[in-house]
Amino acid sequence: SPIPDYLHEVLSACGADTSGAVADYIPELAQVDPDRLGVALTTVDGAVYEAGDCESRFTIQSISKPFVYALALQQRGLEAVLDQVDVEPSGEAFNELSLEKGSGRPLNPMINAGAIVVHTMLGDPGDPQGRCDQVLAGLSAFAGRPLDVDEAAYGSETATAFRNYAIANMLRSRDSITEDPEDVVAAYTRQCSVRVSTRDLALMAATLANGGVHPVSEEQVVEEWVARQVMSVMATCGMYDSAGDWISTVGFPAKSGVSGGIIGALPGQLGIAAFSPRLDPHGSSVRGVEVCRHLSADMGLHMMDAP
Ligand code: GLU
Repeated sequence: SPIPDYLHEVLSACGADTSGAVADYIPELAQVDPDRLGVALTTVDGAVYEAGDCESRFTIQSISKPFVYALALQQRGLEAVLDQVDVEPSGEAFNELSLEKGSGRPLNPMINAGAIVVHTMLGDPGDPQGRCDQVLAGLSAFAGRPLDVDEAAYGSETATAFRNYAIANMLRSRDSITEDPEDVVAAYTRQCSVRVSTRDLALMAATLANGGVHPVSEEQVVEEWVARQVMSVMATCGMYDSAGDWISTVGFPAKSGVSGGIIGALPGQLGIAAFSPRLDPHGSSVRGVEVCRHLSADMGLHMMDAP
């Protein structure tokens, strides 16, 4: 297949760009090798193509948000989740202390305020341990293999998660969460500290693209309506405060995270993942975005192009 050669070409075209900086507000993230670069594509019938560094593991960070949103939708239903967290783009940074005027809900599940509420909707209230187990099992089902938690990253982030404590206290003050804010942030941070490879992320994205069915294990991880809802929210809110630029130039649902991963999901076609730790000012991987731009242009992946 010519695809791996093509992916290597894309990596060479993007590889020289060393602009941006690794996230350092989480001490452990500042330790990663900034030169890593990988890309993986998975078709909905389970073919995996990869180039560069697709095996090394990094913490999933905000890329956990669409998948835990999916698990909450599956468990609680659309209405119950919408009742707690809206689906409007915020145009603000991911860690903004903001709530929707009027309803008081977090604006969407892709910013921390929304993701923290969504996280608490899994499992039984008051059981953070059970919830962490469910998150890990759910993310593993999306990946199609058992994932684990990076304990060093988890410890390092909980020690410095002042901003998320502020967000959780804001949510607690209006009863959007009912547990102790510190416990909630700890459990949410464990969710962000699950380790994945670029290849895992491509399979996770392909599971969304494939209507919730893992393309290799064939497990129905979530129902089709759930995958549709999640990809819709990724399309409008997935790329921090550059979601509008992203959907107009690259044109497919995506989510990035501060460890340098980025996923794209092309409904009925592909899961895409790229990894490179240096971030742009919005918090997305510089070369990851570049790789996605190349793939979109070369393979005609923009959803608004006429077929
Ligand atoms: N754990 C990180 C936080 O909540 C995730 C941020 C991200 O990847 O955007 O600050």
